[in-house]
Amino acid sequence: MNYIIETQNLTKCYGEHAAVRDVSLHVPQGAIYGLLGRNGAGKTTVMKMLLGLARPTSGSILLFGRPVKGFPRDIYSRIGSSIEAPGFYPHMTAKENLTIFSRLTGKPDSSRIEQALDTVGLSSDSQKTFSQYSLGMKQRLALANALLKSPRLLILDEPANGLDPIGIAELRSLLKRLSEKEGRTILLSSHQLTEMEQLSDFTGVLHEGRLVEECSREELAQMEKKYIRLCVSAPDRALLFIRNTCSPDGPERILPDGIQPDGSIHLYGTGWNPAAINKKLLEAGFEVTELTRCAGSLEEHFKSITGGVGIA
Ligand code: ATP
Repeated sequence: MNYIIETQNLTKCYGEHAAVRDVSLHVPQGAIYGLLGRNGAGKTTVMKMLLGLARPTSGSILLFGRPVKGFPRDIYSRIGSSIEAPGFYPHMTAKENLTIFSRLTGKPDSSRIEQALDTVGLSSDSQKTFSQYSLGMKQRLALANALLKSPRLLILDEPANGLDPIGIAELRSLLKRLSEKEGRTILLSSHQLTEMEQLSDFTGVLHEGRLVEECSREELAQMEKKYIRLCVSAPDRALLFIRNTCSPDGPERILPDGIQPDGSIHLYGTGWNPAAINKKLLEAGFEVTELTRCAGSLEEHFKSITGGVGIA
C-alpha cells in the first residue's frame, strides 16, 4: 500500500514523561485516517512531530514516501494543517485573516482565498469579524486556512471540537468530498468514537502515548462484535486455562479477553466454540454457571483496549 504518512517507533519524551511511545502509523494515500484517543493520549504530539513543530526523541517519519529530516520545504508545502486553535485576528474578517496568513507563505491569491472560504461554506463578502464568529465558523475558518495551499495532505487536530451535530455532519461531508472527489489524504484527531466511526477509512487508537490499535473501517465494523460471556468458578484460573488450551477458529483476530468487574470472562472474537470451551472447563473441574454469545458495542471494545475506560 502507498502510505502518505508512515512513522516507525515514533517517540516523544518531555523530561521523564513519554507523551508518545513507539508509534508506527500508516496513513494510506487518499484515505481519511482518524486518530482516536482520550485527552492526553498523545494525538496532538504525534501531529506536531509530523508537522515539524516538535522534534521526535526517537523514531522516524516518512511523508509522501520520503524520510523527513529537518524541515524540507517541498514536503511541508504539500501539507495543510490546523493544530490547536490557530491565532486569528479577532477584529478582522475571514478574508482579511486568510490574506494575512497567506502572506506568510507567499503572495496572497484572492481567488484561492475565496475558493477556500467557499469550500468550507463561509462567505468571503461577510463583514463579520472573527470575534463575532460562532465556534463552528471558527473551525471552518481554520479548515479554510489549512486548504489555502491546496494541500495533498491535511492534518487536522480535533476539527469537530465544539461543533453541534449538524456542524459535525457538514464537516463530515466536506472532508469526505475532499478525500473522495479531490483525492486528498486527511489525518484528523478526535476523542469522539462515533465521529471517527462514521468518517474514517482507517482508525488508529492512541492510549497513554501508544498506538494500541490500527485498523480499517471494515475491521472496525467487525469489532462491533461478538464475544462470549462466561461465568465460571475461579475465573482467574479459568481464563489462564482457556488461554492455554482453547483457541478460536477462523481468520478473525482475538481481541483482548479478560475478567470483567462483575467477575465474568469476556472472550472476544467470533471463532470461539462455546460447546468445546464448556466441555474442557467441566472436564478440568471448573463449574460453569453461564456461557452466552453476546454482541458487544464498539464502545465496549474501545473500553477494553484503553484499559477499561471508555471514549465518549
Ligand atoms: P487532548 O485530546 O486533550 O488534546 P492529546 O491526545 O492531544 O490530548 P497531547 O496534547 O499530545 O494529548 O499530550 C500528551 C501528553 O503529553 C500529555 O500528558 C501532555 O500533558 C504532555 N505534553 C504535551 N505537550 C507537552 C509539553 N510541551 N511539555 C510537557 N508535556 C507535554
